[in-house]
Amino acid sequence: MHRIEELALATFDRPLKDLSDQEVYKVLLDFVQDQTQAQPLNQSKRKLYYISAEFLIGKLLTSNLLNLGCYDEVQAVLEANGQSLHDVEKAEKEPSLGNGGLGRLAACFLDSIASLEINGDGVGLNYHFGLFRQVFKDNQQASRPDAWLDQPTWLKPSTISYPVPFKDFTLKSTLYEIDVPGYQQASKNRLRLFDLDSVDEAIIEGESIHFDKEAIKKNLTLFLYPDDSDQAGELLRIYQQYFMVSNAAQLIIDESLAKGSNLKDLDEYAVVQINDTHPAFIIPEFIRLLTQNHDLSFEEALEAVTKTVAFTNHTILAEALEKWPMAYIEAVIPEIAAIIRQLDQVIQAKFPDQAAVQVIDADDRAHMAHIAIHFSKSVNGVAALHTDILKDSELHDFYLIYPDKFNNKTNGITFRRWLMAANPGLCDLFDDKLSNNWRLDHDFTGLLDYQDDLDTLEQIKQIKESNKEALKEFLYDNQGVTLHENAIIDVQIKRFHEYKRQQMLALYIIHKYLDIKAGNLPTSPITIIFGGKAAPAYIIAQDIIHLILNLSELIAKDPDVSPYLQVIMVENYNVTACEKLVTAADISEQISLASKEASGTGNMKFMLNGALTVCTLDGANVEIANLVGEDNIFIFGKSSQEIVDLYASGDYDAQAYYQRPAIQPLVDFIVGPEMMAIGQADRLERLHQDITTKDWFMALIDLEDFIQCKEEAYLAYQDSRSWYQKTLVNIAKAGYFSSDRTIQQYEEDIWHTRD
Ligand SMILES: *Cc1c(COP(=O)(O)O)cnc(C)c1O
Repeated sequence: MHRIEELALATFDRPLKDLSDQEVYKVLLDFVQDQTQAQPLNQSKRKLYYISAEFLIGKLLTSNLLNLGCYDEVQAVLEANGQSLHDVEKAEKEPSLGNGGLGRLAACFLDSIASLEINGDGVGLNYHFGLFRQVFKDNQQASRPDAWLDQPTWLKPSTISYPVPFKDFTLKSTLYEIDVPGYQQASKNRLRLFDLDSVDEAIIEGESIHFDKEAIKKNLTLFLYPDDSDQAGELLRIYQQYFMVSNAAQLIIDESLAKGSNLKDLDEYAVVQINDTHPAFIIPEFIRLLTQNHDLSFEEALEAVTKTVAFTNHTILAEALEKWPMAYIEAVIPEIAAIIRQLDQVIQAKFPDQAAVQVIDADDRAHMAHIAIHFSKSVNGVAALHTDILKDSELHDFYLIYPDKFNNKTNGITFRRWLMAANPGLCDLFDDKLSNNWRLDHDFTGLLDYQDDLDTLEQIKQIKESNKEALKEFLYDNQGVTLHENAIIDVQIKRFHEYKRQQMLALYIIHKYLDIKAGNLPTSPITIIFGGKAAPAYIIAQDIIHLILNLSELIAKDPDVSPYLQVIMVENYNVTACEKLVTAADISEQISLASKEASGTGNMKFMLNGALTVCTLDGANVEIANLVGEDNIFIFGKSSQEIVDLYASGDYDAQAYYQRPAIQPLVDFIVGPEMMAIGQADRLERLHQDITTKDWFMALIDLEDFIQCKEEAYLAYQDSRSWYQKTLVNIAKAGYFSSDRTIQQYEEDIWHTRD
């Protein structure tokens, strides 16, 4: 009897063949946990701690089976018992521990760190209800608690617990752990998630995501990034961030002491990569712990910490750079506030005339990025263009002080999930065509030999079509919509934000709708799919979702248009949905305002799976374009330098663009009779007003160019042979974006855990 069959009997007292999908999931979870439990931890003198407020890990069953090398075996055992692994995969709920690209990056990195046998753990928080689960009601986004801990999970309780001292009370933590097995490795790492001992799910109000923001002892780990649009929300974030890093710092100190550190030499035992500024309070927290509990002087502690911490910057949007009023920090963690004032003194003394690099600004706000840059050993951007913009403009004053700290680490994605688990059909093609060890070396360039081979191009087309069938099933199960047959699938999936310019694609849809109404019918039917959540406090982003849902309804109900155009908004976009969408897509929309998207990783997933990119030259799109060449990508829009200059001069005039004859009818359609008949006037009018008067992220500046570019892309799709040649080149060149390459660079340039 196979171990899985034994486990079924032992757990449920029934044979495997009689179990529900949910029960088989539980059996497989135990089967995997037994194997990872037996794996030793990676070892090295210096250990990496990757600290992140988010880990958007996705479902783990498939990727764990793959990494352990037993996927095929398990599938066979299930099949022999009349069970389907595909159905069991559906029974697993997706952990809700992240929000978007930053959290997904952390998850890809964990997989690569373990697969490269680097001794490194992820450290974060265990959110009970994640961000929120998105539902649509009256063509608007509504948010529900995203319960994911109500079924057996990968979390294992530990005996580790720390006290975290706030101003008026001390809270106790419990550490939970998720094993992270590397691909084909005997050893593992862990994702370590701290939870609050006294957390109380009962304080959530009904079906909503509302709760008493002041009940810190009960709410601290309920949600990720609770709404910070008011003071109570901002205070809660400071509580949450400090709870995360105080636990992390205590854990790191304990583990380093156990290995023989005297803590002045902390950097020989630990390297702490902080994922954006959310964990930046770890710098003053280390200083607090080292000076109060371990007898280091302030200067000794500061030196040890600065040599241990490395900082990854993820954004150049000014409003996304965290600046906390000192009064708030004093109200929550006064000892940390005092240390931040000491750090401020250090910088004032060193750089007295440079207001731009101070820790505390003239409004008495602490700049978390400034703390992270001054008191770390490395500052990295996440794509070549992004790092250049940091050095040349956004962080130029810091670059002049610390030229050697700045470095680039272009993001990557784990090919175990985004290729091997998500696209088995493409893997079969690789096995057929490539003679190298592509699963490990991620070199697919051997495919280029088949550019003119019609059979290979036809196979790529067949793989795409079968992935479209899988997407069709997913969308039908998920929300009851039926994907059109034979349509070109054009996808924009990412968090809703004005800089990502979903509104520009919505304006394109209006253009296409009016064009079809005027009798210009597209040769192939077009399906445009959006997915993404908008932050609950981000009103305009929710208005854009409303516009898209209204357009979807308008078009579906219009018999003149619906055979040619379909608009779908995926409900509750997450990693699982992403896996289905990137493998089925023909076109990848990467249309952010140039200079605003730090890197993107969605763009890499699409490229790897054979979608062609329609893009501005922003973030890692620049590197994609360089790899595939201009014949194999669709580029439009103003350059990053032009946009940086326009912001500097303040010369952008939305009104002037709005008044152009090609643009005005599209924008005015938002408040025209068709939309008003379906949608909410206040939302549509507010969006119209914003686009015509402000348009801060300049959707209109690139709109005409975008429309032309999309028409070219759709036209190119009609020539199937040349389309799949372009697709082949994209797939063949995607190897560069393996997160194994990224992690190898972090290891060689920053972490040095193997030295
Ligand atoms: C990859 C991914 C992202 C990041 O997408 P971008 O297009 O780079 O913003 C966000 N959310 C999920 C669920 C993802 O899988």
